[in-house]
Amino acid sequence: MRDVYDVQQVCENGHQITSGFFMWPAERKNFCEECGAPTLTECPKCGQEIQGSPFIEGPRKYKTLESIVSVPKYCRNCGTPYSWTQKWILTAIQIFRESGNLNGNEEDTIEQDIENISKDIPETELSANRIQRIWRKGKAVGYEVIMELASRTAAKILKGPYP
Ligand SMILES: [Zn+2]
Ligand SMILES: [Zn+2]
Repeated sequence: MRDVYDVQQVCENGHQITSGFFMWPAERKNFCEECGAPTLTECPKCGQEIQGSPFIEGPRKYKTLESIVSVPKYCRNCGTPYSWTQKWILTAIQIFRESGNLNGNEEDTIEQDIENISKDIPETELSANRIQRIWRKGKAVGYEVIMELASRTAAKILKGPYP
């Protein structure tokens, strides 16, 4: 038995439209109903399809429920961040910069730190700890967008409570 996958359709802001693009054609949408952005089913850079729900065997038996399949952050073929990931990263950086809460060192590393917490890599814990220290100085600025972006490892470290 080999798992095969349907294709996922996502809007440019990261809202999942359907993870069963071929299984349920009626679910397809050209634009997102939540935010009005255009939708996509493949990586704009390399054309790799966004992976959707797994089948058990053959095209008619789903192994998991549609809602369980998450929206990926990076293309599994070329590693490029999807548009929603880029927007979350850029927005988070901007929120931190505008907060006026960063010292010189933090200014220097904040871009890399925010990118690192979106992944489970060796540097994730280091970067999550730095963001936590910034939050402990004052308010947890950008909390929502950071948690949206955070990998499992980062989220564990970053969970509050914060002042
Ligand atoms: Zn949307
Ligand atoms: Zn790609």
